[in-house]
Amino acid sequence: MQNKYDVLIIGGGPGGAMAGKAVAEAGLSCCIIEKRPAIGAPVRCAEGVGNEISELVDLDPKWISSKIEGALLVAPDGQTLELNPEMAGNEVGYVLDRKIFDRELVWKAANAGCDVFVKSRASSAIIKDGKVCGATIESGGKTVEVYADVVIAADGVESKFARWCGIDTTVPMAEIETCVQYLMTDIDIDPGLNAFYLGREVAPEGYVWIFSKGERTANVGIGISGKMCKEGKRPKDYLDAFIAEHFPNGKIIELIVGGVSACKPLACTVADGLIIVGDAARLSDPITGGGIINAMYTGKLAGEVAAECIASGDCSKKALMKYDTEWRSSKMGKGLKRNYQVKEIFIKLKDEKLNSIVNSVNKLDMEIFDTKYLIRELVKYNPWLLKDIGTLKRLLD
Ligand SMILES: Cc1cc2nc3c(=O)[nH]c(=O)nc-3n(C[C@H](O)[C@H](O)[C@H](O)COP(=O)(O)OP(=O)(O)OC[C@H]3O[C@@H](n4cnc5c(N)ncnc54)[C@H](O)[C@@H]3O)c2cc1C
Repeated sequence: MQNKYDVLIIGGGPGGAMAGKAVAEAGLSCCIIEKRPAIGAPVRCAEGVGNEISELVDLDPKWISSKIEGALLVAPDGQTLELNPEMAGNEVGYVLDRKIFDRELVWKAANAGCDVFVKSRASSAIIKDGKVCGATIESGGKTVEVYADVVIAADGVESKFARWCGIDTTVPMAEIETCVQYLMTDIDIDPGLNAFYLGREVAPEGYVWIFSKGERTANVGIGISGKMCKEGKRPKDYLDAFIAEHFPNGKIIELIVGGVSACKPLACTVADGLIIVGDAARLSDPITGGGIINAMYTGKLAGEVAAECIASGDCSKKALMKYDTEWRSSKMGKGLKRNYQVKEIFIKLKDEKLNSIVNSVNKLDMEIFDTKYLIRELVKYNPWLLKDIGTLKRLLD
């Protein structure tokens, strides 16, 4: 490991990997440090991504566990709503194999010229005259100081780096989705559909997902709001009850736990000498919890902006703001803002209201499915929605 790089990247997830590749392709020196001994493992993810991932990377079939053609929503009362590709939007795409996917993204960065060190943990930020200048790193039993013109914090949901740099990264307890997931096999599923189960009894302020990993195998998981977790009512309690009912004979071959933020993005994602990307910047979707593509997009953008600023000799917060401004005005940034508000409406709905919505969507003519039609019909069958509908309509338009 050198003691000075143009860009130092903390974390070897999708955000860090895309940043490393972009910086190296711009011809600058860079280094990814990853605290775990292996990139991509253990997987803490349901691995679902929308089709738009192919705008960021050429998909390799060996990263893909399943191609997803639609989504199945299951209401609290058991009614189902099958969403076809046009309606399912981001839920149509792929279930990845992240052990391979994450590793290959980092290989791409390494092939472009980025250094990579595993089992190397950033333990503090180096800050001089208010500017982030590098990190102290524990690697191979040694403590080293590594300097950089720009540090990219891509250290995921558990991110500490930005906090060490004085940025408030707190996620309110109610906006942390606490998750448990089993990789299950020998279960009856439709391998082309991802399923979502809603309801207070199933997953309070969250949902249960079944994401197909191929024939008879799936990631079966749950996320519930941190504020709903109590003794005997933890995510694992709900998930075990769900599995006892739906897959009593399935075999669990992996268990993971993790957290997802469902809050607003950080108020500002840059500082002097620092850019924050992906989950570290709280950029996962507040409704679905999905953050792989957002991390990839912001990682790439961060790498490009860092390279430009280094070339112009100005890595101040003001110069790096280009990154913050660009992602906020992007389709992703606008989507995050809208989905946060939609989540705030839906999280308060009682089960009967969810049932009623699913029931009325089931009556729609799917051939003419558009936002205006959806809103009009929803209000027709659920007049109580009028209170929220103004906001909802503005958000969906
Ligand atoms: C249960 C669960 C299910 C999910 N399902 C989905 C899904 O289906 N689809 C989807 O899009 N998203 C999903 N997500 C979210 C998704 O996993 C993240 O949004 C995505 O991984 C974010 O990428 P990232 O690069 O920002 O962070 P990460 O992938 O978390 O990578 C951060 C890396 O930084 C490393 N690191 C942390 N601190 C340090 C340090 N001090 N020094 C060095 N390295 C450090 C970590 O070890 C980690 O490897 C899920 C998350 C959970 C928990």
